This record gives sequence, structure tokens and C-alpha cells, in this order.
Amino acid sequence: MNLVWYRNDLRVHSHRPLQEALQAGGPVTAVYCLCEGQWDDHGVAPLRRWYVLQSLCELGEQLAARGIGLQVLDTGDFSQVPQRLAAFVREQGVERVFCTREYPLNERRRDEGVAREMAQLGVTIRGFDDSVLVPPTTLRTGKGTPYTVFSAYKKRWDVWLDDHFAMPDPPAKPAAKPVVFADKKTIDDALARLAVPASLTARWEPGEQAAGRQLDDFITRHLANYRKNRDFPSLTATSSLSAALSAGTLSPASCFHAARQAMADAGARDGAACWIGELAWRDFYRQIMAQYPRLSWGRAFRAETDLLQWNDDEVLFQAWCEGRTGYPLVDAAMRQLVATGWMHNRLRMVTAMFLSKHLWLDWRKGEDFFMQHLIDGDFAANNGGWQWSASTGTDAVPYFRVFNPVRQSQRFDAEGHFIAHWVPELKALDNKTIHEPWKQPLLVPDYPAPIVPHAGVRERVTESFKAVKQLYDTTQGQGGN
Ligand SMILES: Cc1cc2nc3c(=O)[nH]c(=O)nc-3n(C[C@H](O)[C@H](O)[C@H](O)COP(=O)(O)OP(=O)(O)OC[C@H]3O[C@@H](n4cnc5c(N)ncnc54)[C@H](O)[C@@H]3O)c2cc1C
Repeated sequence: MNLVWYRNDLRVHSHRPLQEALQAGGPVTAVYCLCEGQWDDHGVAPLRRWYVLQSLCELGEQLAARGIGLQVLDTGDFSQVPQRLAAFVREQGVERVFCTREYPLNERRRDEGVAREMAQLGVTIRGFDDSVLVPPTTLRTGKGTPYTVFSAYKKRWDVWLDDHFAMPDPPAKPAAKPVVFADKKTIDDALARLAVPASLTARWEPGEQAAGRQLDDFITRHLANYRKNRDFPSLTATSSLSAALSAGTLSPASCFHAARQAMADAGARDGAACWIGELAWRDFYRQIMAQYPRLSWGRAFRAETDLLQWNDDEVLFQAWCEGRTGYPLVDAAMRQLVATGWMHNRLRMVTAMFLSKHLWLDWRKGEDFFMQHLIDGDFAANNGGWQWSASTGTDAVPYFRVFNPVRQSQRFDAEGHFIAHWVPELKALDNKTIHEPWKQPLLVPDYPAPIVPHAGVRERVTESFKAVKQLYDTTQGQGGN
């Protein structure tokens, strides 16, 4: 018996472990370990849990149609997975396990525990790097170290894919004798415990089939103009496929393949190249996560920045969370996040930089808050994006560069359409005042004045970063750690 152990790879198409399990000969079965306790520990958003559970339901049906039963084991948290999986393997007479590799530390420890149990049972376990386009330890600098600068990584990434990219596997064919997906109740019970409001779920369609349709729609309607439009949050210009990619209802190989095919049309070439660049960022952060375990301990990539003394002002933090900072673009973005479970990439950078630079609050607080709300909450991408914005990460924005929230607003929401939608108190303002409502306070009595001034932020941030660098170099020189 061959077992496919599903995790964040909830699909049948472009799924190497499933293909290999089918080709290995003999019957195939599948399992998913439901770890709600781990979701609690990792602060996973209820909306993301809903997306995963609904997608799991669809996966169960898809596998059943192919004659493969999916069993959902309610395992609490990762610590219980090795024993529960070992018991399952014994009961079912499994000889081989197939799965997609995961890179954060807790996931790797879980997998090491499972590998030990399987070794004792004489069961082989094979992992595949299907959640990325390039396996995380494949590309190395001339010194044999991991790449920590994106531009250099991307050059090698392109070349490697030119030589090695394999077409996504087609889905397994429907079976002559389908089985019944019997474990739906475990999922329904977990969904009932969640109780996510319909207002939040209405915008999203979980599952592999919806993700495939969404990819087709993006490629045909928006890819060609992606580079031109992707920074404007009031436009539908990006794919919104991040939830699908992070839960694995869609593979990065399917995305890459579709974008490459679209390049046959000269008009789409530039947009496609730009979008493929985003898939490279996704791989980049995953390879960083895989090779620098300290990120999984909540540490900054740049060690000296862990010496920064952050502000601990809960009032400022709450104002940021609730979209009441007095900066319209920041507030519109935060309200979009809370209302929909998603935020546009440009605005993730703007709000993250505002929290870490203007409010001088620890970027980890923002990272957690994003995770608690995002439908696409993904440890590697979220951590990478936060550390980029806070200038504490690998390929981070230089600390002396601070986005001006008013300039960002004038540039990327010039007409104020996005702001007017999410901050309706400001919708009557003209397209100049809407970016700086404090200039006409009588027109907007219900909207707060800026909670901190923009002036002086760059100087304060620059001084603080320089000071910790000096302190760090001195303590290192004295043999500190
Ligand atoms: C502070 C911050 C936090 C972030 N948190 C997350 C997160 O939790 N989950 C997440 O998937 N992305 C995160 N991102 C990256 C990016 O903002 C989202 O992937 C993107 O906005 C999703 O929208 P889309 O699917 O329309 O993207 P598209 O523009 O269509 O891009 C296609 C895909 O490429 C990937 N991608 C795009 N940009 C990035 C990036 N900068 N880093 C890594 N992958 C990228 C995503 O999988 C995305 O779906 C974060 C960025 C920042 C600055």
C-alpha cells in the first residue's frame, strides 16, 4: 500500500507525490493530519483555516473519484503526528509514504519525528520539493553559501529553470471504481468550531478547481498588463492566487507553465516575465526559511537589528490594527485586510513600513497581526515581507529609505478611489485633500489627525540602525554573541 500524506498541497493536479505513489504499483490511500492546536500556536487566521478545510473537502471528493480514500486524522498538534501516523500506517499496511517537503522548523521537526517512526516500521518515506519551482538548497553562491540577495538568486533561478523545469503532471484519471469520501464529518465539525462570518468568506472560492479557473482568468485578462498595473490597489491587476499557492490548491509549476506559455504572445511577454519574478520571490523566501532556522525562532535575519529597542505603545498598535492612524492609505489598507483577509502587495509594504518605521513598533507584532487575518498567511513570505519592510531581513530595503505614506498615496491611488472605498468618511474629499485630510479638518470631523508626524522619521530610524550596528560590532569585537 502507498500512502500520500497531504499537508499544504491540497490538489491532485501537478502533484508529484501522488503521481509517484500511483506509479509505485499497488493500491494508494491518502491521509491529512488536522492540527488545530498547531494552527492556534502559529496564529493562523480563521479565514485561512476555512479555506484549507473547504479545499480539503474538495480534495477528498477528487481523490474518491480516482478510487483513493482520504482519511482525516484529528491529531491536535504536530507533536502527536508521528505516533498517529505510525498507527495509521500499521493499520493500513502501508509500505511507502509520499509527501511534499515543508521548510519551517516546526514542520521539519514533525517530519523528522515521522521519519524516525517510519524507519522503525521499515516504511520508506519520500519527500518532493513541489511547493517551489527550484528546490531550496539547489542554488549556491560561488562560495557555496545560500543566496541572500534576490537579484543574484533570480539570475541563477532563471537559468536553472531553463534547464530543469518539468511540465506539471496531469491529474490521475478517474477510477472505474470510485470510492466514497467518508471523512467529511471531521472537516464539518472543524468548520463548525470556526464559525467564520459569511461576510468574510463570500469573496473567496476555495479548492483546486476554483484556483485553476482563477489562474486561467488572470492569464487571459490581466497578465499582459501586470507590470503596468500591479502597483495600483484600486485595479484588479494581480492574480489573488496567494491563498491557493500557500495552501497548495495550485502548484507554482502550473503558474510558471501557464505564464511561460502566455509568452508566446509578444504582447504578454513583459507582463509574464514580471509575474514570474514574483514566483521567484516566493521561492527566494522559502529557501531562506529552509536554510536559516533562526527565522523560525522569531529572530531577525540581520543579527544587529535584534538589538533595536522598539516602542511598546499599545495605543499606537491598536490604531494601526483598526485603520485609525490618520494616514488615509494606511488606514484603507488595514481596513481592507480586516474586512477581506487579503491586502494588496504595495499596501503590505506601506503598512509594514509604517508600523516599523513611523510607529517604531516591533515588526513581529505586525507579522503576527497579518498572520491572524490573511487568507494567504504564509510563514516564509510573510516573514520575508516584514523583514524586508523593517530593514532587518536578507534583501531588505535599506534602513534609510522610508516610504512617505502621503507620497505613496498620491502615486498609487492618485484619484483616491481605493481610499474612498475603504475609508468612507473621506469619500466626499477631492483627489488632493483625500491624501492629506488634516489640511481640511472641518470637512472630516470623524477622521483622526495623524497619530505621528512623518517629519523626522527617517533621521530617527537612521540613527537607531547606525547605533545598533556600532554596538553589535563592538560586542562582536569583544567576543560577544
Ligand atoms: C509585509 C508583507 C507580508 C506579506 N505576507 C504574505 C503572506 O503571508 N503570504 C503570501 O503569499 N505573500 C505575502 N506577501 C507577498 C505579497 O504581498 C503577496 O503574495 C501578494 O500580495 C499576493 O497577491 P497576488 O496573489 O495577487 O500576487 P501576484 O502579484 O499575482 O503574485 C503571484 C504570486 O507570487 C507570490 N508573491 C508575490 N509577491 C511576493 C513576495 N513579495 N514575496 C513572496 N511571494 C510573493 C505569491 O504567491 C503570489 O500569489 C507579503 C508581502 C509583504 C510586504
